[in-house]
Amino acid sequence: MFKKEQCDLCGDCLVKCQWIDAEKEQAVEWMTEMMDGNHTPVVDQCITCYACNEICPTHANPFDLIAGLQEKYQRVAQDVIDMTESKLTFTGELRDIPQADRIMNICLFGKTDGHLIQGELYDLPQIGGKPYFCWILFSHMGAESIQQKHAQEFVDRLAATGAKEIVCFHDDCYAMLAGLTPEYGIDVPFKVIHLSEYLVEYLTANKDRLTPLNLKAAYQRPCASRHTPEKEHFIDELFDLCGVTRVERTFDRENAKCCAAVKLLLNAGDPKPDVAENVLDAKAAGAEAIVCLCPMCIHSLENAATEKNLPLIFLGDLARMALGEIQPPALP
Ligand code: SF4
Ligand code: SF4
Ligand code: SF4
Repeated sequence: MFKKEQCDLCGDCLVKCQWIDAEKEQAVEWMTEMMDGNHTPVVDQCITCYACNEICPTHANPFDLIAGLQEKYQRVAQDVIDMTESKLTFTGELRDIPQADRIMNICLFGKTDGHLIQGELYDLPQIGGKPYFCWILFSHMGAESIQQKHAQEFVDRLAATGAKEIVCFHDDCYAMLAGLTPEYGIDVPFKVIHLSEYLVEYLTANKDRLTPLNLKAAYQRPCASRHTPEKEHFIDELFDLCGVTRVERTFDRENAKCCAAVKLLLNAGDPKPDVAENVLDAKAAGAEAIVCLCPMCIHSLENAATEKNLPLIFLGDLARMALGEIQPPALP
């Protein structure tokens, strides 16, 4: 929720936005207009990367203001939103819900990226598919209210497993449970564990089996991480455990660059130049590979990274490599 009373109109949110060109004066003017509910170029140019919510020094959540206006001014046509919502809504009856103290939610990735959910790390009870979809996608489509509308049901279905701990395979799932539910006033009756925290715990318990990968890698920090920056230290710990150096690059941490796949959702132009810039930044920083937390980022960066001979490694696969379960990429 946008906290108007916390905004001191510093303009940083739009000045520092990587996707909008605004000097301070312009930024302040646009923010003032938007606070009055008016349309500005920001409504169309914002690619919904959530960065400004993390950047805002007073935690006023400027993206939430923009998101509300994207919905009001129908940034994405209503019929497209309705169709997507109905496609992702589960209407059946839930059967055979696993009951366990700790369960992993693999969201929709069982079908699309099953190869990333293999091996001993994933040898725990799992749930997935449409009933366990977190709906974060909709704030990428200018329809934040749909995300909020389904949030309680999402939490209830997870709670129905009786699990004391839910491990989130996807960063978006964690963002919803750990970052957004408090905003929505929803209680989460289980502990939420991010994939990186789970991997750190697993590798720490198996430390004697680890082989350092001696790899220099860039990290592709996904947009959803903007909602929960407090868990970032687990990424660093995981890199350390795997013997991987996280290269210092322009587009990392608070200055991370969205993989730009959302531009396609929003019909906001060609993502290719942005992807190329991102990959080039990794290469220039001396990276031998790019590690991604979000499977969608892998799909988005794939072609440009291949062109630059930069293997893309899913975060979970990094752990599997250190465990000796799969081979590290052959470097040129
Ligand atoms: S929302 Fe935050 S960053 Fe943006 S103008 Fe207000 S205080 Fe500054
Ligand atoms: S969400 Fe991202 S693209 Fe949109 S205004 Fe904020 S920083 Fe810019
Ligand atoms: S897949 Fe790309 S667009 Fe989607 S949340 Fe991740 S970084 Fe952002």
